Amino acid sequence: MDRQPRRRSLTAKQAGLTLAIALLLSILAGLVELALDARAMRQEIVSSTRYRLNLVHGTAAAAAFQLNPDLAGQVIEGLFNGGRVASATIMDDFDRTMATRQRESARDSSWVAHALFDDILHYRQTLHYQAGPGSTPQPVGELELTLALDHLARDFTHRSLQIFSLSVAKALAIAGLLALAFHWFVTRPLLRVHAAIADTDPRQPGSWPKPAMGRHGSDELGHLVESVDQLLQAFQRGLDQRDQLHQISTLDGLTGIANRRHFDTFIASEWQRAKRNRHALSVIFIDIDHFKEFNDHYGHVAGDDALRAVAQALTRVVHRASDLVARYGGEEFVCVLPDTDLEGALQVAGRIHATIRALDIAHAYSTRAGRVTASLGVASSTPAHDGTSVDELMAQADRQLYRAKRQGRDRVAAQT
Ligand code: GH3
Ligand code: MG
Ligand code: MG
Repeated sequence: MDRQPRRRSLTAKQAGLTLAIALLLSILAGLVELALDARAMRQEIVSSTRYRLNLVHGTAAAAAFQLNPDLAGQVIEGLFNGGRVASATIMDDFDRTMATRQRESARDSSWVAHALFDDILHYRQTLHYQAGPGSTPQPVGELELTLALDHLARDFTHRSLQIFSLSVAKALAIAGLLALAFHWFVTRPLLRVHAAIADTDPRQPGSWPKPAMGRHGSDELGHLVESVDQLLQAFQRGLDQRDQLHQISTLDGLTGIANRRHFDTFIASEWQRAKRNRHALSVIFIDIDHFKEFNDHYGHVAGDDALRAVAQALTRVVHRASDLVARYGGEEFVCVLPDTDLEGALQVAGRIHATIRALDIAHAYSTRAGRVTASLGVASSTPAHDGTSVDELMAQADRQLYRAKRQGRDRVAAQT
């Protein structure tokens, strides 16, 4: 009974499952969010780069017009200050480089970065200069700018990590809350039902500690408890019927003491026990004297009353828990006395004899004493020593009973 199957908590299983589902959903949601964010990031990069190019356009055009490499250099420096720039060049009208700068960049950006940003890395802008108010702007050179892919990739990775970690944190929080709610609303009441079933005494299933389900009264858990209750009550009724049937099958209907069937199984098992334990076992046969006359003269109803009175008297005298008093049939009774030798059995037989006499049930048609008396035959055996059988013990007690009858009734006879 001590061997228990290894338990895995329902809460733990549910929490694991919820977590797995929440993580999967969070990854999917994270991917969608990431795709949207990548689009937004591209738009943001393009518009901010154009904005910066527009900002420096006037100065760059002036530098190209004036063929001023210092000014062009300052414009380039200004562009680099904002970061994300890999190279920038200002050329004059004759495609001569006036100022350029390049930054070493890592070449090993991921394929994702290439796929996402390759088409928005390069910008080329013609520089127009308006020499005076009202004059048409003239092309004076070009400004070329290339963004640093490794910077963009790093920014993207950083943003992706933020999005994913937020997503996972949300998933963990949702999974935790769900696990807690599941534990509170399902697992806990289920554990209570389980504990109540485990505490149920299998001999008294009807009095199981039925748990009060409170707010679960009308849901599936409440129904589960009701179903278990009905099952256990039906089980209890079955046990009660079995006990009743057992009682009916082992008790004598008239006197309420054990019947012949019970006596037969009882003596067989006591005989085996006496044999194992090397103890003595004694049997007393009791037969009411001239009971036919009693019936004939006082009637069967009085006869039944007398049998009941004798049976009650026997149970009063033979009261050790291990002893058995049974109605053997008709007006014959039998006592089985485990762990009792012949001497002890004779004492009990003497008391029975005296007690039946003391009932003082009038029997004017008895050859003895004018009241109901009985004859008793006593036999004892220690099965392990004398090698007799249970049938021989019974036959011996029966012989002693008839010896008592022959000797004049109203007495105890025992093997010598
Ligand atoms: P003995 O002294 O030799 O034992 O004579 P007896 O008349 O007692 O013996 P016998 O076996 O001739 O008769 C037994 C009688 O017990 C027969 C019957 O009238 C009576 N008897 C047996 N069973 C019942 C019973 O259940 N109720 C009643 N009222 N009488 C019973
Ligand atoms: Mg008889
Ligand atoms: Mg008799």
